[in-house]
Amino acid sequence: MATKLPTKFWIYLILGISVFLLIRSYWRHTHPFYQDEAYFKKTLNTLLRPRSPGTPGHSYVREFLLLELKHLGFVTSRREFIDTIAYTNVVGVMNAEAKRFLLASCHYDSKVLPTGDNYVSATDGGVPCAMLLNMAKSLEPYLRNDFLDRPDIGLVLVFFDGHESMDIEDETNSLNGSRRFTDVETIPLNSIEVAIAINLIGAPDAIYMAHYENTYKLHERLADIEEELRSAGQLSKCHKLFHKLKDYNADIEDDHYSFFAESVPVLHLIPHTFPAVSHTEKDNLKNLHWPTVQNMNAIFTTFVYDYLKKHVHPISFGEESAEYESLQIP
Ligand SMILES: [Zn+2]
Repeated sequence: MATKLPTKFWIYLILGISVFLLIRSYWRHTHPFYQDEAYFKKTLNTLLRPRSPGTPGHSYVREFLLLELKHLGFVTSRREFIDTIAYTNVVGVMNAEAKRFLLASCHYDSKVLPTGDNYVSATDGGVPCAMLLNMAKSLEPYLRNDFLDRPDIGLVLVFFDGHESMDIEDETNSLNGSRRFTDVETIPLNSIEVAIAINLIGAPDAIYMAHYENTYKLHERLADIEEELRSAGQLSKCHKLFHKLKDYNADIEDDHYSFFAESVPVLHLIPHTFPAVSHTEKDNLKNLHWPTVQNMNAIFTTFVYDYLKKHVHPISFGEESAEYESLQIP
């Protein structure tokens, strides 16, 4: 025989459910996405191998990137070209029919070092590529739902090949992948609202400054996001990464150059100084500064989410980035 539950039970149950819903709603508001560190580490481990063009490591990583992008819901394409040797840019697009695109890029090839075969190029392409995939993985629920079929903005991820010169003696034959991308307009250049190039991430003591006046507001947003996440207790204990400083005369040559040359607004996420381990076998997993890597992941993911979510109409990056400022709608 069923016994009647006391009124107190129902009151406590309703109270419990209400508190749970409140906490869940607060959590969702303050944590619109989840950083899957296990995914990031697994991805990074897969990428960190010698991967200069023509090697088994290079084709392994290329196929891995294509597969991951596909799993994450991107329309993928391999853009092959010959420039003395064969290269392949890996491209993933979401909302291919959109009028404008946010493009984020890195390079996946590693340099051939005269010292040997154990160079895994961790900060130099490895962490940046893992950051891009990690961002797409963290935002997957948003990208596959609210973001899907947006007519105003699409997302393009590009993993450039041929960034490093294959000629040990001649450093000038570099940035082949990005040059090819803009030469043949893999994506129409006038549809790229801003091209972000990420490189040399994960060394200790690195700080980031702005390199271009017309995208200064984007840099400032990165700095603000870092502060917001830190205040909310969502960053690892680490020095301040993004500084609201204008360092317009000391940019490092990188994959954003060919976009810049074609007047596409660019944002260059690169530390102020080269990592001490650059182009040595010490640029490996062991020497990565983990709090920097974790915080860069959190800041960059939030930045992309923020940009896409607030985007309503095309933004033109004028001298003062006035339109981006007006993007900061409530
Ligand atoms: Zn390099």
